[in-house]
Amino acid sequence: MKEALEKLQREALTEIRKAKNKEEFLGIRIKYIGRKGLLTDLLRTLKDVSPEDRPVLGKLSNETKNLISLEIEKALERIAEKDKEGELLREYIDVTLPGRIFPYGRRHPVSQVMREICSIFSDLGFIVVEGPEVELDYYNFEALNIPKDHPARDMQDTFYISEETVLRTHTSPVQIRIMEKQRPPVRILSPGKVYRPDSDVSHTPMFHQVEGLLVDEKVTFGDLKGVLRYFAQKIFGENTEIRFRPSFFPFTEPSAEVDIKCVICGGKGCRVCGQSGWLEILGSGMVDPEVFRNVGYDADEVSGFAFGLGVERITMLKYGISDIRLFFENDLRFLDQF
Ligand SMILES: [Zn+2]
Repeated sequence: MKEALEKLQREALTEIRKAKNKEEFLGIRIKYIGRKGLLTDLLRTLKDVSPEDRPVLGKLSNETKNLISLEIEKALERIAEKDKEGELLREYIDVTLPGRIFPYGRRHPVSQVMREICSIFSDLGFIVVEGPEVELDYYNFEALNIPKDHPARDMQDTFYISEETVLRTHTSPVQIRIMEKQRPPVRILSPGKVYRPDSDVSHTPMFHQVEGLLVDEKVTFGDLKGVLRYFAQKIFGENTEIRFRPSFFPFTEPSAEVDIKCVICGGKGCRVCGQSGWLEILGSGMVDPEVFRNVGYDADEVSGFAFGLGVERITMLKYGISDIRLFFENDLRFLDQF
């Protein structure tokens, strides 16, 4: 029986060493020294041993029981200690540490100004619409009264995808797409990316345009002037003066380029305005009757005006930026200023 007791003790201690959590330790306690445990079973055989051996074995079995109990107790204490430590560690926040700074982004200056432009015209009732950047030759040129032999259709001036598809050179094709689907009145604004194979301090192969179109009965050049003056004063400041200069665009007649009085020199003449005192901001005009005919509008019934502006150019004038390429270099030292 002595051997049996020693074996039981060895096995119990081995299990205690291997056990990992409170449940396992409690399980070992029940298994070995519980009221119906293995030790109790063993003690039942005590009656079979000789009377002189009984006290010795009785003592031995008590020691075994105490040892197992003590080991389990210690192990449970260690676990409790660890749990407490973990809890303290989790709750511990050093309020004296400096806060973590999360860098947050912002919209690109060109996007900011594009939104501002859209917002100004939205206030006047223009609806923002979008169209494809890969455009059919028909919508980009033909329907806008730019025939096959027009210089704008030169290979040097346009990115051709195929003979019949181009990367749109302006957002004007959206006007055609809308007018084909909608009867007058039309009052739309189409912002977006456009493409031309130019690259220098004032040109990039991709840039942003916003075009506006208004078609209704009895729309006059006076309406165009009023709308564009309102826009210029909203975006460049209340005292901004504008002037209209006769120009030519295939899809408007008459056409005019619009200048604002130089924001740098106030009209006296400087390097930025080329000593003229004026800065060109957009092109505009009354919609050519030929364009109306292309979309099935009656040019005797309706009239309208259109205008188009380069968003990068407006942004450059607004913030006094001299090189358009800065917008696309992704230099945060530049972009963070807006
Ligand atoms: Zn100037």
